[in-house]
Amino acid sequence: MEYDVLIVGAGFSGAEAAYALARRGARVGLMTQSLDTVYLPFTPVPGPAPEGTLLAEIWEAGIAPWELHRKAKYALEAERNLHLFQSSATRLLVEAGRVVGVATWEGPRRLAEKTVLAVGSFLDPKLYVGMVVEAAGRLAEAAYPDLYEDLVRHGFTFVTREEAVAAQEGQPAYRVAYAAFAPGEWRREDFRLVRLEGLYGVGLCVLGRGTYAEMALEGRRLGEALE
Ligand code: FAD
Repeated sequence: MEYDVLIVGAGFSGAEAAYALARRGARVGLMTQSLDTVYLPFTPVPGPAPEGTLLAEIWEAGIAPWELHRKAKYALEAERNLHLFQSSATRLLVEAGRVVGVATWEGPRRLAEKTVLAVGSFLDPKLYVGMVVEAAGRLAEAAYPDLYEDLVRHGFTFVTREEAVAAQEGQPAYRVAYAAFAPGEWRREDFRLVRLEGLYGVGLCVLGRGTYAEMALEGRRLGEALE
């Protein structure tokens, strides 16, 4: 297998999980659809940062979102067991009821012993800005329907959530409605998405709601649970 653990999505939860696992010696693939939005918050992140996280290593009072992103990306890329790369997962690869990785929009299949979905607000999202509606998981980051449709084909069920962002300098107010795994699809104690062996979930896509600090902690917790 290419990786011990493949993580789809380099937001707060996925990036923290990848960092924690790589530091414990696992070979980790961290794929995300845009390298420009790795660990990028929607709004500035208030302190305190939870101890033992990547966030705690890079956070400082008043840090701008783009600066947090830059520092996180630098730290992730410097981690020797961690391969951070840009790619979009389109479907799960399943052999004999076990997930062995993902197919990608770009072509290459990515294979791993364990696959983690950390896809945040990007499952079946709709972004509303005034009268305009588009398929995007955040402002300026389009979302593709393939992975969500594949999960539905596998029988997974979802609930709809919604979050709003107030207008900021140079940015209009907007809201995002997105799908999160329905209660019962995911087990909090071991992060398993229980319909398929070898498949795990972390962060907003399984919890539905939560702050940046909470997602960072969840990522670290997964890093410990998957050892
Ligand atoms: P995300 O941060 O969403 O990261 C998911 C990543 O997965 C993205 O980088 C995306 O590109 C990638 N991805 C998705 N699908 C694929 C795919 N198929 N292939 C490859 N990569 C993929 N929390 C606060 O504390 N303060 C706030 O002000 C706040 N505002 C919010 C506003 C909105 C609109 C939303 C939706 C949430 C907000 N939150 C806020 C909550 C916060 O965003 C989340 O807790 C946190 O970002 C979730 O982290 P995550 O890692 O689960 O997902």
